[in-house]
Amino acid sequence: MDCLFCKIVNGDIPSKKVLENDRVLVFHDIQPAAPVHVLIIPKKHMASMNDVMPEDLGLIADIHQAAQEAAKELGIADSGYRLINNCGRDGEQTVHHLHYHLLGGARLGALTGISSSHA
Ligand code: 5GP
Ligand code: ZN
Repeated sequence: MDCLFCKIVNGDIPSKKVLENDRVLVFHDIQPAAPVHVLIIPKKHMASMNDVMPEDLGLIADIHQAAQEAAKELGIADSGYRLINNCGRDGEQTVHHLHYHLLGGARLGALTGISSSHA
């Protein structure tokens, strides 16, 4: 399948890994939007939040557990962080393999919603 994040899971495209188990992978975003910016993905391909089936919900728990561990590992557990899933066009999802952004290491500002370029 021609999916960027599946290629990262398979090792066909290199990534800076933070942690990994048999179900999820955490790696640094190539274009960080904050001092700490990693991506948490299930190894199983799912295009977006819309494609998460009831039998996949355990993976969502795995992703939250990995986020918690990565936050500790990266030293942002106490200062705080943001965990984000972008879904579809209006969510500005650009890679169509389910992923969560974990951002921290600085005050991130309030969520503003509509950006001026799209309003
Ligand atoms: P989205 O906009 O779909 O929510 O987020 C996709 C994220 O993937 C972006 O933050 C982008 O910087 C990141 N990204 C895109 N291509 C690569 C890549 O080849 N390697 C890594 N590590 N991150 C990538
Ligand atoms: Zn994929």
